[in-house]
Amino acid sequence: MTKDQLKSWDKQHIWHPFTQMKEYADEDNLVIESGEGNYLIDTEGKRYLDGTSSLWVNVHGHRKKEIDDAIKVQIDKISHSTLLGVTNAPAIQLAKKLVDITPQGLNHVFYSDNGSTAVEVALKIAFEYWQLRGKKEKQKFVSFKDSYHGDTLGAVSVGYIELFHEIYRPLLFPTHQAPSPSDPNCLKWIEDLFKKESNQIAAVIIEPLVQAAGGMMVQPDGFLEKLRELTKRYQVLFIADEVATGFGRTGTLFACEQEKVVPDLLCLAKGLTGGYLPLAATLTSSEVYEAFLGDYSEYKTFFHGHSYTGNPLGCAAALANLEIFEKEKIIQNLPGKIKTMTEALKRISNLPKVKNIRQKGLMVGIEIGPTPLEERRAHKICLAARKKHLLIRPLGNIIVLMPPLSITEDEINFMCAVVSDEISRGTS
Ligand SMILES: *Cc1c(COP(=O)(O)O)cnc(C)c1O
Repeated sequence: MTKDQLKSWDKQHIWHPFTQMKEYADEDNLVIESGEGNYLIDTEGKRYLDGTSSLWVNVHGHRKKEIDDAIKVQIDKISHSTLLGVTNAPAIQLAKKLVDITPQGLNHVFYSDNGSTAVEVALKIAFEYWQLRGKKEKQKFVSFKDSYHGDTLGAVSVGYIELFHEIYRPLLFPTHQAPSPSDPNCLKWIEDLFKKESNQIAAVIIEPLVQAAGGMMVQPDGFLEKLRELTKRYQVLFIADEVATGFGRTGTLFACEQEKVVPDLLCLAKGLTGGYLPLAATLTSSEVYEAFLGDYSEYKTFFHGHSYTGNPLGCAAALANLEIFEKEKIIQNLPGKIKTMTEALKRISNLPKVKNIRQKGLMVGIEIGPTPLEERRAHKICLAARKKHLLIRPLGNIIVLMPPLSITEDEINFMCAVVSDEISRGTS
């Protein structure tokens, strides 16, 4: 098969996610063939710095030996068996590990395949929890403006990004949509709502510290802690969606740690396997878990599961990923990288076409504007960056930088220099 044939079949047959295929058809498609550390290599042999961690999943770089080896070893044992009524060693070891490293009190792990399913599981558990506890009116969810929790319909019901979600409104269950966490009235709005009708509210779901797909919106200090306090006072479950923020992105292993928050339910996916395989986990407190215990005839069973739940290959990759965090002191080594990023971003913030820059840890959003979305300015900047060996992808008018944690300080400076050049060029 020739390189050109691959490119042509891609355009003929693959319907790419979040992609206007008419526009894609007119652009040169980039076929990735291999990876090495923080770089992706295409079929022409050209190398690109992976500036968005292959869509926020990669953690320690590509072809990380320990993870490669762990998967190979597991393949030689078995690639998949089910968790429906039987179990397997990697899934058990990973559950134990996740309970140990997540905020204390999250003792039970429900596996699924991706961030959206981790959220669906959390929503269904939260809903059913109150049904089982006899508080049958507690059926509604609260989420925030600019929140994103995945693309399946339950996750979209608690999502709140106009551009992605509006068209599906008729299919969705009604949700209370709180103002953006950065709105100074947000917590008051929530407390007023709780005062009036917490007896009808099952849970609040939030992306802790950073609303990622909503444009890397960073929450004010103390917001998460205060929200957690309100949910405790008014007996509302707290679901932390750390699908994007988990595994070091914000500077700590989990974002919740920064405000000493222990959620009732925690959703993990993306970085869980180091960006190798699709695997997700929803962790719950013992209190939530125990509400589902009873004789079979009470029908308290959580009737939910996926074909590849607890996949041994994925779990083996995740275990290797987590071992690297410890062995290489990944979290301890982040502050220097984060500071380098902050310094480099300061230089970008002075450019005339930059409206706003937001950063938390190694999660960055550079907002271009004012410019109409149709101009696709950020998209064009990202395409131009490719020519300079940097692969990034925007969110609307926002250029996102979310490199693997293994990025070096030189690479951070390189990445920001390319972005800076391309933003300036676009405005001259
Ligand atoms: C990406 C994301 C999801 C959805 O994860 P998928 O694996 O793409 O289904 C859910 N929540 C947050 C916060 C995310 O960033």
